[in-house]
Amino acid sequence: MTTSNAEAAVTEPTAPEPRPSNFIRDIILDDLKTNKYEGRVQTRFPPEPNGYLHIGHAKAIFLDFGLADEFRGHTNLRFDDTNPEKEETEYVDSIMEDVRWLGYHWDGLFYASDYFDQLYQWALKLIRDGKAYVDDLSAEEIRKHRGTLTEPGKDSPHRNRSVEENLDLFERMRKGEFPDGSRVLRAKIDMASPNLNMRDPVMYRILHAEHHRTGNKWCIYPMYDYAHGQSDSLEHVTHSMCTLEFEDHRPLYNWFIQQLGIFPSQQIEFDRLNLTYTLLSKRKLLQLVKEGRVRGWDDPRMPTISAIRRRGYTSEAIRNFCLSIGVSKTTGVIELAMLEHFVREDLNKRSLRVMAVLRPLKVVIDNYPVGQVEEMEAVNNPEDESAGKRKVPFSRELYIEQDDFREDPPKQYYRLSPGREVRLRYGYFITCTSVVKNDKGEVVEVHCTYDPATRGGNAPDGRKVKATIHWVSGSHAVNAEVRVYENLFVKENPSDVVTGQDFTANLNPNSLEIIAEAKVEPSLVQAKPGDRYQFERLGYFCVDPDSTPGKPVFNRTVALKDTWAKVEKKIDKKK
Ligand code: ATP
Ligand code: MG
Repeated sequence: MTTSNAEAAVTEPTAPEPRPSNFIRDIILDDLKTNKYEGRVQTRFPPEPNGYLHIGHAKAIFLDFGLADEFRGHTNLRFDDTNPEKEETEYVDSIMEDVRWLGYHWDGLFYASDYFDQLYQWALKLIRDGKAYVDDLSAEEIRKHRGTLTEPGKDSPHRNRSVEENLDLFERMRKGEFPDGSRVLRAKIDMASPNLNMRDPVMYRILHAEHHRTGNKWCIYPMYDYAHGQSDSLEHVTHSMCTLEFEDHRPLYNWFIQQLGIFPSQQIEFDRLNLTYTLLSKRKLLQLVKEGRVRGWDDPRMPTISAIRRRGYTSEAIRNFCLSIGVSKTTGVIELAMLEHFVREDLNKRSLRVMAVLRPLKVVIDNYPVGQVEEMEAVNNPEDESAGKRKVPFSRELYIEQDDFREDPPKQYYRLSPGREVRLRYGYFITCTSVVKNDKGEVVEVHCTYDPATRGGNAPDGRKVKATIHWVSGSHAVNAEVRVYENLFVKENPSDVVTGQDFTANLNPNSLEIIAEAKVEPSLVQAKPGDRYQFERLGYFCVDPDSTPGKPVFNRTVALKDTWAKVEKKIDKKK
């Protein structure tokens, strides 16, 4: 339950603040009005611990915890661990860390495996009631018997076994007498149902596999559909939110609850989050990790919560994004740019501004005294006066961005070029007088003069310059590694491939650029992993845990909006 805000709300018995509503919230409001659950709101977040959580899960978490919080309800974290072969404790731990980081606290912590005994007892009851039977058909045969959307299914020859025989076989399944896949327990519903999920769905399968919590106690495991609703019911979940693909499973969810006569939890389906240039499927993300396409689950190019945290996204930005995308009954695709917008918006408020030069070009100010160092006063965050000011050393030799100098400036390029005067942020006006080139004819050093009367950035005679560029002092700069990320996929829909290819064909070969020798201002030598900054004019950056003392590593979280790139594009189009 509860973010810190919501905790405050608990002590304050006033009506919830008006919020943009959505259809799930309306259902809850209605249930509260009719007193359907005695005024209770109980939700759960039910991840399967078979991978790391991604931004799609953040949407589900936001709904499950957020709606319960709003109505002073409760939320359980329940691991849906019915699939022992794919599940690991590493995933359990990461999921708990990610939910906490997103700002939520669960009330109960449960595992579907906590309920294996109860589920087994309920299976016996269904057998005794003539509502379940052991089937000897193979998975393939069961599929063939299932029929299609237009044709009814066929009864299994084992459908009408006696209760005694079913009880005996099911007991022997549990004891481990049969090999994997040789038998299943099925619900006896209706092989002609128009809903394929109701055509005698499998409840239990045989699997001689060690489970991360129950060890070797069980060699039969319940299927998702048999475990989920009953787990909800056991926890007295009132509103069980899941994604739209489970809509057709709802009749089955209700059927089990009705047959067993247990607490009537209610399943509500919503649209899953899809993002452009992004894959949100644990299975595919695992493939990227296993094939070494990325550096791990928390590689900052991944859409996992742990990756975007490492990259520098804030949990506030993610919650604001989730609030803004809302929830509906039709699946669409959200622009990745929208998520980035919320990240920028939040980082703009909280990040300290610093100066860093990613691709250094040396500038020598010929008329500046050799050996002199001045401490220039710089504003830490124009959005937050309380962030204060700092001193940045200025000296005769500086680094500026290679991009901020052009020997032959195109039209509308106002930054440094021969004969041109520009402002150094928090420094002086400088004018380029000459350049030094290497054997290949590339500019390796720019010589300038400065106007001592412009200290702080203004000319007493009122003359203007059209550009202000950032810099770091050559002898004071700290070397840093900077990792610049682009989209992991080149296509808006990464799954859009020709036959014979898989989504890896759409991986962006330039998704990671490592800049080994960037220069950052000396205040950053103390930066700690997780610290976030705005590098002036470049974007937002976050210190990576790979940093070592004296050699920070920065991840680019997100670029600032690049107006020059837009101008350049327009010019290119005109050509
Ligand atoms: P994946 O397809 O990534 O493997 P999943 O649905 O199998 O996801 P679960 O661990 O079963 O993953 O999901 C836990 C909860 O998160 C479920 O309620 C599920 O509906 C929800 N969820 C998963 N993916 C998304 C998404 N893209 N958008 C919104 N909710 C999601
Ligand atoms: Mg799943």
